[in-house]
Amino acid sequence: MSEDQSLNLVFLGAPGAGKGTQTKRLIKNFHFKHLSTGDLLRKLIQEKHPLGVKAKSYMDEGNLVPDSLMIDMIKTQMHQKKNIIFDGFPRTLAQAVALDEITHIDKVVFLEVAHQEVIQRLTGRRICKQCGFEYHVEFLPSKKGSVCEKCNGALYQRDDDQEEVIKKRLSVFTSLTAPLIQYYEGKLLRVQAMGTVEDIYQKITQGLGLSS
Ligand code: AMP
Repeated sequence: MSEDQSLNLVFLGAPGAGKGTQTKRLIKNFHFKHLSTGDLLRKLIQEKHPLGVKAKSYMDEGNLVPDSLMIDMIKTQMHQKKNIIFDGFPRTLAQAVALDEITHIDKVVFLEVAHQEVIQRLTGRRICKQCGFEYHVEFLPSKKGSVCEKCNGALYQRDDDQEEVIKKRLSVFTSLTAPLIQYYEGKLLRVQAMGTVEDIYQKITQGLGLSS
């Protein structure tokens, strides 16, 4: 894809489906701006920003942050209108309608994953505080134990990666976010998000017609 082309993508999927992993890989290889609302919220929490303080209580319980707050947040990030990957936004119909008013969405990648698999993935997830690289205690442990192999940053577990919170996040996905699958029907690329990160990445790039 060249810089003068435009492709706006939404990544849809249950928590733990691999949205962050796959989108971070795509932005490394193509000219996309990555807009992850989860990452933006966590940054605000770290900075003790009032918006972050407000959002944290919703996030810690596995609930969605209110639509009005999220829509305002996305609007402040829209410095460019093309070649954006929206990761974790929209998560409700109201957010999808608002996004259609802000910009045009070309394709929606839906990462499909069994919910049982998600629980295993997320309870073992450990993230580098410094570079954001994601490990897994069983499937991809850091060779340096509790610090990152790449940058020596400390590894941490997200507060919302506790089993009870994950179950709540999955039920929120089913009731509030899954209806977007139908909303985006004509733009949907369904990808089975099982197997290796590389296999899934290949399915996504082929499905989108992107050659690496
Ligand atoms: P994520 O990192 O995408 O799994 O997001 C972590 C948490 O941030 C979610 O469980 C929600 O509490 C909150 N969040 C992220 N994106 C949104 C959104 N578009 N709408 C509402 N809440 C969100």
